[in-house]
Amino acid sequence: MGKQATAEKQIKAEKQSENKIEESLNLLASTQIVIKEALGKLGYNEEMYELLKEPLRMLTVRIPVRMDDGSVEIFTGYRAQHNDAVGPTKGGVRFHPEVDEDEVKALSMWMSLKCGIADLPYGGGKGGIICDPRQMSLGELERLSRGYVRAISQIVGPTKDIPAPDVYTNSQIMAWMMDEYSRIREYDSPGFITGKPLVLGGSQGREKATAQGVVICIEQAAKKRDITIEGATVVIQGFGNAGSYLAKFLHDAGAKVIGISDAYGALHNPDGLDIDYLLDRRDSFGTVTNLFEHTITNEELLELECDILVPAAISSQITHKNAHKIKASIVVEAANGPTTLEATKILSERGVLLVPDVLASAGGVTVSYFEWVQNNQGFYWSEEEINEKLRAVIIKSFNHVYNTAEQRKVNMRLAAYMVGAHKMSEASRFRGWV
Ligand code: GLU
Repeated sequence: MGKQATAEKQIKAEKQSENKIEESLNLLASTQIVIKEALGKLGYNEEMYELLKEPLRMLTVRIPVRMDDGSVEIFTGYRAQHNDAVGPTKGGVRFHPEVDEDEVKALSMWMSLKCGIADLPYGGGKGGIICDPRQMSLGELERLSRGYVRAISQIVGPTKDIPAPDVYTNSQIMAWMMDEYSRIREYDSPGFITGKPLVLGGSQGREKATAQGVVICIEQAAKKRDITIEGATVVIQGFGNAGSYLAKFLHDAGAKVIGISDAYGALHNPDGLDIDYLLDRRDSFGTVTNLFEHTITNEELLELECDILVPAAISSQITHKNAHKIKASIVVEAANGPTTLEATKILSERGVLLVPDVLASAGGVTVSYFEWVQNNQGFYWSEEEINEKLRAVIIKSFNHVYNTAEQRKVNMRLAAYMVGAHKMSEASRFRGWV
């Protein structure tokens, strides 16, 4: 490490110890804090924490891509595999300018927790590439996707580590990646990746799965708070895959969606927004607010008067700065990591029912699992069958976490970590790793 990098690291460390609040904005550090607490509550020793506090494997790759103007750009990508004691690792690949190593590590740990909560036979994995797909052509994206698969092909595969879509990646990108992997292996490998188009072995219901899972969690949480979905006021931050389907499902179920947002701003109408119109006009990255003159900020959106708030965009949106201004009585995290640890504490103390990301957003990976099972067995289920199976998994997972929170007198996030960490800890123990 160069002198400058060492000095920068030192300054960062000093800053963090001076100001604990900053620590929670580091997703990896805050995940480690909760994992440690959860393992302690479950009665595991320090060695188990040492095993689970970081991914078992982290690969950094540099991918040269020929751009449309003839130049070559080198992109940096990652693939983290947190723990494969339960089974192959599983998790999406995100394309985003702010991807960084710690974030990918934390995301792989959350995937382990999600798979544990939903009781899937997987450990957690995650990938990311530092890039801005909004500025790239389809040809450049295809070359980048294929280059990434070539770079990570040694450590992935249908029985090793199975990628999927995440922020700014979609079924087309999964198709290119599956094709590249199949070419490298010289046999058709649909089970290498999930979230594929239907014609390439994708599953019915996969695209809507994350939002379906969130809706089921909202229904369960609303029951606990005697709120009926019909007529309930809802605010959704983010209009990407999860946020947009969610708005549609809740709107169709009779809820009043009074606020939505994208990366550039937010829309608010106390009488309810015209969701069908917004869905029709959004672009493939979920941008829609640019069409409107009167917008509010994302910060203002989160503080709107409503029954249910769903952060469905990016991490660290509800912090110690705005947690006491949140008016919703139920917060359901459809995004990964939208609420910091301090904010979790503030919301819990205020009696807000917070359904954590590792539970609320487990619908995506659950239907990914169904997709992989269908690829392996070569027999495909109907959308009704998928939805029924998904519903059963999410209701069971919700109750498991909710009851753990009640019985152990902990908040839902800690309860979710306890439920999620249990299976991988036991699997690691039985294998004799700890
Ligand atoms: N990227 C999604 C998540 O964060 C889905 C992962 C998957 O389907 O494997 O849960």
